[in-house]
Amino acid sequence: MNEQSYAYGATKSSIRELAAYAAARKAQIGAENVYDFSLGNPSIPAPDEVRTAIARALTLPATQLHGYTPAAGLPEARAAIAASLCRRFGDDAADAEGTYLACGAAACVSICLNALLNPGDEVIVLAPYFPEYRVWIESAGGVCVEVLVDESTCQPDIAAVERAITPRTRALIVNSPNNPTGAVYGAEVLAQLAAATRPHDIVLIADEPYRELVYGAEVPWIPALYERTLVCYSYSKSLSLPGERIGWVLVPPAFPEHDRMFAAIAGAGRKLGFVCAPALFQRVVAACVDVPANVAAYEENLAALTAILDACGFEYVMPHGAFYLWIRALEPDAQAFSDRARTLELMVVPSDSFGVPGWVRAGTCVSRDTIDRSAPAWEALAASYR
Ligand code: PLP
Repeated sequence: MNEQSYAYGATKSSIRELAAYAAARKAQIGAENVYDFSLGNPSIPAPDEVRTAIARALTLPATQLHGYTPAAGLPEARAAIAASLCRRFGDDAADAEGTYLACGAAACVSICLNALLNPGDEVIVLAPYFPEYRVWIESAGGVCVEVLVDESTCQPDIAAVERAITPRTRALIVNSPNNPTGAVYGAEVLAQLAAATRPHDIVLIADEPYRELVYGAEVPWIPALYERTLVCYSYSKSLSLPGERIGWVLVPPAFPEHDRMFAAIAGAGRKLGFVCAPALFQRVVAACVDVPANVAAYEENLAALTAILDACGFEYVMPHGAFYLWIRALEPDAQAFSDRARTLELMVVPSDSFGVPGWVRAGTCVSRDTIDRSAPAWEALAASYR
């Protein structure tokens, strides 16, 4: 048995554990009495265009519909994705040849890491960070190096990044809009980050499943600022398709040694078995590349939850994107705070899962009804610390 794999399987992520507990409580006391803010599972239905595209795809002959596609994806899907990127970010932002479809951001980031790392290579993550990054980095043979962001703004601390760079640093994962903080990195901070990583030829892995989910902020196209960027995208959040496992990796045309890099991406996909992404959804996303995300619904949720938290006196970081709220725990031990919230049927993820103490994450991708009903629980939680 591979002990590393055993360890990953035997220890559950605390997000999943909390979600499982919430599901059990819902079965016991009724879903309406549990305020489950644990998961990043969109509550907004997929847009109508998705249903239409599925219906259209289902008219294909079965052997075509269900058959293997090329490993990197259907040529028409790769072309549609690249063309959409060029419309949005400039004529030379992308091309079909540099686009590789895979099962969501999870597969895409894993592919990038496996394409880049040799044993012992280091990858910088900006903490707090999505916990699976550590799993993916370590399983690719790398070492996960955590660098704290500025606590009050949740923006990268460039000096701290510079201090963490060693001759073994191969990559840095940039996740903006950010899970769990909702921070969006502007062009200026990204330029500073680029200035820090450029002398060392470090690759930025831009993990962007929340790119479209922003509240007035602009998300810069990182390859335009830094040539050594691999972009990972997923339709899990923007089109509410997390169970369909579809996304892409882009090696932008200007990436140095583009063809070798793309071959390594394809090779990593082959090595990991991430070939031929779900064929039906390749066709669906090809037809939906320009369908907008329902940002307004998440913005309304955010306003409703922050109004409740304001009334109770909670401190949080105002998010500019994604669908999470980063809330300061009312005691230093985030796990203890989350456990106390749990006794009030309020499920919030302790920040220890994301590599920092003292905070919790609440997903704002829940139903509006859940948020409205949760108000007394938040008030009781705050009152219990007064
Ligand atoms: N990266 C980040 C920052 C995420 O928040 C998630 C999912 O929550 C993923 C990657 C994985 O997304 P996918 O469902 O596309 O694999």
